[in-house]
Amino acid sequence: MASKVRLYVNQPLAQGQTVSLTKEQAHYLFGVMRLEIGGVLSLFNGQDGEWDATIVQASKKNGVLECTALTRPLQLPPDLWLVFAPIKKERTDFIVEKATEMGAARIIPVQTEFTNSGRINQERLQAHAVEAAEQCGGTFVPQVDDIQRLGKLLDHWPQDRQLMFCDEALVGAAQALTKLDKAPWAILIGPEGGFSETERTRLRALPFAHPVSLGPRILRADTAAVAAMTVWQQVLGDWS
Ligand code: SAH
Repeated sequence: MASKVRLYVNQPLAQGQTVSLTKEQAHYLFGVMRLEIGGVLSLFNGQDGEWDATIVQASKKNGVLECTALTRPLQLPPDLWLVFAPIKKERTDFIVEKATEMGAARIIPVQTEFTNSGRINQERLQAHAVEAAEQCGGTFVPQVDDIQRLGKLLDHWPQDRQLMFCDEALVGAAQALTKLDKAPWAILIGPEGGFSETERTRLRALPFAHPVSLGPRILRADTAAVAAMTVWQQVLGDWS
Protein backbone atom coordinates (compact mmCIF):
# COMPACT_ATOMS: atom_id res chain seq x y z
CA MET A 1 0.00 0.00 0.00
CA ALA A 2 1.23 3.47 -0.79
CA SER A 3 2.14 5.53 2.26
CA LYS A 4 -0.45 7.91 3.66
CA VAL A 5 -0.62 11.38 2.15
CA ARG A 6 0.62 14.07 4.55
CA LEU A 7 -0.75 17.56 4.30
CA TYR A 8 0.00 20.80 6.13
CA VAL A 9 -3.09 22.87 6.93
CA ASN A 10 -3.26 26.30 8.44
CA GLN A 11 -6.16 25.43 10.77
CA PRO A 12 -6.63 24.04 14.28
CA LEU A 13 -6.60 20.25 14.63
CA ALA A 14 -8.39 18.33 17.39
CA GLN A 15 -10.60 15.28 17.90
CA GLY A 16 -13.69 15.60 15.68
CA GLN A 17 -12.48 18.92 14.25
CA THR A 18 -13.50 19.49 10.63
CA VAL A 19 -11.07 21.07 8.21
CA SER A 20 -12.13 22.81 4.98
CA LEU A 21 -9.73 22.50 2.10
CA THR A 22 -8.50 25.27 -0.15
CA LYS A 23 -8.90 24.90 -3.88
CA GLU A 24 -5.23 23.91 -4.24
CA GLN A 25 -5.46 21.31 -1.48
CA ALA A 26 -8.66 19.82 -2.99
CA HIS A 27 -6.97 19.66 -6.37
CA TYR A 28 -3.93 17.95 -4.86
CA LEU A 29 -5.88 15.37 -2.83
CA PHE A 30 -8.66 14.52 -5.27
CA GLY A 31 -7.15 15.44 -8.64
CA VAL A 32 -3.51 14.45 -8.18
CA MET A 33 -3.54 11.84 -5.39
CA ARG A 34 -6.98 10.47 -6.41
CA LEU A 35 -8.28 10.20 -2.86
CA GLU A 36 -12.02 9.71 -2.36
CA ILE A 37 -14.66 10.13 0.35
CA GLY A 38 -13.83 7.80 3.24
CA GLY A 39 -10.10 7.96 2.46
CA VAL A 40 -7.70 8.70 5.32
CA LEU A 41 -4.69 11.03 5.29
CA SER A 42 -2.34 12.68 7.78
CA LEU A 43 -2.68 16.34 8.73
CA PHE A 44 -0.41 18.64 10.72
CA ASN A 45 -0.39 22.36 11.31
CA GLY A 46 2.89 22.91 13.12
CA GLN A 47 1.16 23.19 16.50
CA ASP A 48 -1.30 20.40 17.29
CA GLY A 49 0.69 17.30 16.30
CA GLU A 50 -0.21 14.89 13.52
CA TRP A 51 -3.78 13.70 12.99
CA ASP A 52 -5.51 11.04 10.95
CA ALA A 53 -8.32 12.68 9.03
CA THR A 54 -11.11 11.13 6.99
CA ILE A 55 -12.46 12.72 3.84
CA VAL A 56 -16.15 13.53 4.37
CA GLN A 57 -16.76 15.79 1.38
CA ALA A 58 -14.86 15.94 -1.89
CA SER A 59 -15.28 17.97 -5.04
CA LYS A 60 -12.98 19.48 -7.63
CA LYS A 61 -12.61 22.80 -5.88
CA ASN A 62 -13.16 22.03 -2.21
CA GLY A 63 -13.62 19.38 0.39
CA VAL A 64 -13.98 18.70 4.08
CA LEU A 65 -11.91 16.44 6.31
CA GLU A 66 -12.60 15.28 9.85
CA CYS A 67 -9.86 14.56 12.39
CA THR A 68 -10.28 11.11 13.91
CA ALA A 69 -7.14 10.36 15.92
CA LEU A 70 -3.91 11.95 17.08
CA THR A 71 -1.16 9.85 15.52
CA ARG A 72 1.84 11.83 16.77
CA PRO A 73 2.19 14.60 19.33
CA LEU A 74 3.87 17.87 18.34
CA GLN A 75 7.62 17.45 18.38
CA LEU A 76 9.51 20.71 18.64
CA PRO A 77 13.04 20.94 17.26
CA PRO A 78 15.86 22.18 19.49
CA ASP A 79 15.93 25.95 19.97
CA LEU A 80 18.26 26.57 17.04
CA TRP A 81 18.07 29.41 14.54
CA LEU A 82 19.77 29.30 11.17
CA VAL A 83 20.96 32.75 10.13
CA PHE A 84 22.29 32.88 6.57
CA ALA A 85 22.98 35.26 3.72
CA PRO A 86 20.84 34.27 0.71
CA ILE A 87 22.69 33.07 -2.36
CA LYS A 88 21.31 32.04 -5.74
CA LYS A 89 17.64 31.11 -5.80
CA GLU A 90 17.94 27.33 -6.04
CA ARG A 91 20.69 27.23 -3.44
CA THR A 92 18.67 29.40 -1.07
CA ASP A 93 15.71 27.04 -1.54
CA PHE A 94 18.04 24.17 -0.74
CA ILE A 95 19.20 25.84 2.49
CA VAL A 96 15.61 26.35 3.68
CA GLU A 97 14.62 22.81 2.78
CA LYS A 98 17.64 21.24 4.48
CA ALA A 99 17.38 23.46 7.56
CA THR A 100 13.79 22.29 8.00
CA GLU A 101 14.74 18.64 7.63
CA MET A 102 17.68 19.04 10.00
CA GLY A 103 15.53 20.58 12.74
CA ALA A 104 15.93 24.36 12.72
CA ALA A 105 13.37 26.19 14.83
CA ARG A 106 13.61 29.45 12.88
CA ILE A 107 15.27 30.49 9.64
CA ILE A 108 16.53 34.05 9.32
CA PRO A 109 17.86 35.36 6.00
CA VAL A 110 20.22 38.29 6.49
CA GLN A 111 21.76 40.90 4.29
CA THR A 112 25.47 41.21 4.92
CA GLU A 113 27.95 43.55 3.25
CA PHE A 114 28.81 40.98 0.59
CA THR A 115 25.37 39.33 0.26
CA ASN A 116 24.85 38.17 -3.31
CA SER A 117 21.17 38.94 -3.32
CA GLY A 118 19.47 41.52 -1.14
CA ARG A 119 15.99 40.25 -1.88
CA ILE A 120 14.11 37.05 -1.16
CA ASN A 121 10.58 35.86 -1.70
CA GLN A 122 9.65 35.15 1.91
CA GLU A 123 6.35 33.44 1.04
CA ARG A 124 8.00 31.10 -1.41
CA LEU A 125 10.69 30.17 1.10
CA GLN A 126 8.05 29.58 3.78
CA ALA A 127 6.23 27.29 1.34
CA HIS A 128 9.49 25.37 0.87
CA ALA A 129 9.73 24.89 4.64
CA VAL A 130 6.14 23.57 4.70
CA GLU A 131 6.89 21.17 1.85
CA ALA A 132 10.06 19.93 3.54
CA ALA A 133 8.14 19.33 6.79
CA GLU A 134 5.41 17.45 4.87
CA GLN A 135 8.01 15.26 3.26
CA CYS A 136 10.21 14.54 6.29
CA GLY A 137 7.42 13.63 8.67
CA GLY A 138 7.94 16.68 10.87
CA THR A 139 5.09 18.03 12.98
CA PHE A 140 6.69 21.48 13.23
CA VAL A 141 7.34 24.08 10.53
CA PRO A 142 10.11 26.62 11.15
CA GLN A 143 9.22 30.22 10.55
CA VAL A 144 11.15 31.82 7.70
CA ASP A 145 11.66 35.51 8.43
CA ASP A 146 11.80 38.25 5.87
CA ILE A 147 15.31 39.43 5.07
CA GLN A 148 16.90 41.92 7.47
CA ARG A 149 20.32 43.46 7.87
CA LEU A 150 22.80 41.41 9.86
CA GLY A 151 23.79 44.54 11.78
CA LYS A 152 20.22 45.18 12.85
CA LEU A 153 19.72 41.56 13.90
CA LEU A 154 22.84 41.80 16.08
CA ASP A 155 21.66 45.14 17.55
CA HIS A 156 18.61 43.32 18.97
CA TRP A 157 20.24 39.97 19.68
CA PRO A 158 18.90 38.14 22.78
CA GLN A 159 21.96 38.02 25.01
CA ASP A 160 21.31 34.50 26.26
CA ARG A 161 21.44 33.01 22.75
CA GLN A 162 24.83 31.67 21.67
CA LEU A 163 25.97 32.22 18.11
CA MET A 164 28.02 29.67 16.19
CA PHE A 165 29.86 32.01 13.85
CA CYS A 166 31.09 29.94 10.91
CA ASP A 167 34.19 31.59 9.54
CA GLU A 168 37.90 31.20 9.35
CA ALA A 169 38.80 30.20 12.85
CA LEU A 170 41.47 28.20 14.57
CA VAL A 171 39.07 26.11 16.52
CA GLY A 172 37.04 23.31 14.98
CA ALA A 173 33.26 23.48 15.37
CA ALA A 174 32.74 20.25 17.30
CA GLN A 175 35.53 21.06 19.74
CA ALA A 176 34.21 24.58 20.36
CA LEU A 177 30.64 23.42 20.95
CA THR A 178 31.54 20.64 23.37
CA LYS A 179 32.52 23.20 25.99
CA LEU A 180 29.21 25.06 25.76
CA ASP A 181 25.66 24.67 27.08
CA LYS A 182 22.53 23.56 25.37
CA ALA A 183 21.19 27.10 25.84
CA PRO A 184 19.38 28.65 22.85
CA TRP A 185 21.63 28.84 19.82
CA ALA A 186 21.93 30.22 16.32
CA ILE A 187 24.23 29.33 13.45
CA LEU A 188 25.55 32.11 11.20
CA ILE A 189 26.61 31.36 7.62
CA GLY A 190 27.99 34.07 5.36
CA PRO A 191 27.49 34.71 1.63
CA GLU A 192 29.73 33.53 -1.22
CA GLY A 193 31.91 36.57 -0.66
CA GLY A 194 32.37 35.79 3.03
CA PHE A 195 32.19 38.41 5.80
CA SER A 196 33.71 41.88 5.57
CA GLU A 197 36.47 42.87 7.99
CA THR A 198 34.04 45.23 9.75
CA GLU A 199 31.55 42.41 10.24
CA ARG A 200 34.26 40.04 11.43
CA THR A 201 35.59 42.51 13.95
CA ARG A 202 32.14 43.16 15.32
CA LEU A 203 31.19 39.48 15.48
CA ARG A 204 34.44 38.47 17.13
CA ALA A 205 33.92 41.02 19.88
CA LEU A 206 30.44 39.81 20.81
CA PRO A 207 30.43 37.82 24.06
CA PHE A 208 27.85 35.32 22.77
CA ALA A 209 29.57 34.67 19.41
CA HIS A 210 31.85 31.66 18.97
CA PRO A 211 33.96 31.67 15.79
CA VAL A 212 34.28 28.12 14.52
CA SER A 213 35.88 26.39 11.58
CA LEU A 214 34.23 23.76 9.40
CA GLY A 215 37.56 22.41 8.25
CA PRO A 216 40.40 23.54 5.99
CA ARG A 217 38.36 23.62 2.76
CA ILE A 218 36.10 26.51 1.86
CA LEU A 219 32.57 25.17 1.61
CA ARG A 220 29.82 26.71 -0.45
CA ALA A 221 27.29 28.45 1.75
CA ASP A 222 24.65 25.74 1.21
CA THR A 223 27.11 22.99 2.10
CA ALA A 224 28.32 25.01 5.09
CA ALA A 225 24.73 25.38 6.39
CA VAL A 226 24.14 21.62 6.32
CA ALA A 227 27.58 20.84 7.74
CA ALA A 228 27.19 23.33 10.60
CA MET A 229 23.75 22.02 11.50
CA THR A 230 25.08 18.47 11.48
CA VAL A 231 27.86 19.29 13.92
CA TRP A 232 25.54 21.30 16.14
CA GLN A 233 22.90 18.56 16.19
CA GLN A 234 25.53 15.96 16.96
CA VAL A 235 27.02 17.86 19.91
CA LEU A 236 24.13 19.89 21.34
CA GLY A 237 20.95 18.91 19.52
CA ASP A 238 18.35 16.16 19.56
CA TRP A 239 20.33 13.42 17.81
CA SER A 240 21.63 11.75 20.93
N1 SAH B 1 34.96 33.58 -0.15
C1 SAH B 1 34.57 33.36 1.20
C2 SAH B 1 33.97 31.99 1.38
C3 SAH B 1 32.57 32.06 1.70
S1 SAH B 1 31.86 30.48 1.88
C4 SAH B 1 35.72 33.50 2.12
O1 SAH B 1 36.83 33.28 1.68
O2 SAH B 1 35.49 33.78 3.29
C5 SAH B 1 30.30 30.92 2.53
C6 SAH B 1 30.16 30.82 4.03
O3 SAH B 1 30.22 29.46 4.41
C7 SAH B 1 31.23 31.51 4.85
O4 SAH B 1 30.96 32.86 5.05
C8 SAH B 1 31.16 30.73 6.17
O5 SAH B 1 30.09 31.18 6.97
C9 SAH B 1 30.83 29.33 5.68
N2 SAH B 1 32.04 28.51 5.51
C10 SAH B 1 32.48 27.94 4.36
N3 SAH B 1 33.58 27.20 4.57
C11 SAH B 1 33.85 27.28 5.89
C12 SAH B 1 34.86 26.72 6.72
N4 SAH B 1 35.81 25.93 6.25
N5 SAH B 1 34.83 27.03 8.04
C13 SAH B 1 33.87 27.84 8.55
N6 SAH B 1 32.90 28.41 7.80
C14 SAH B 1 32.87 28.13 6.50
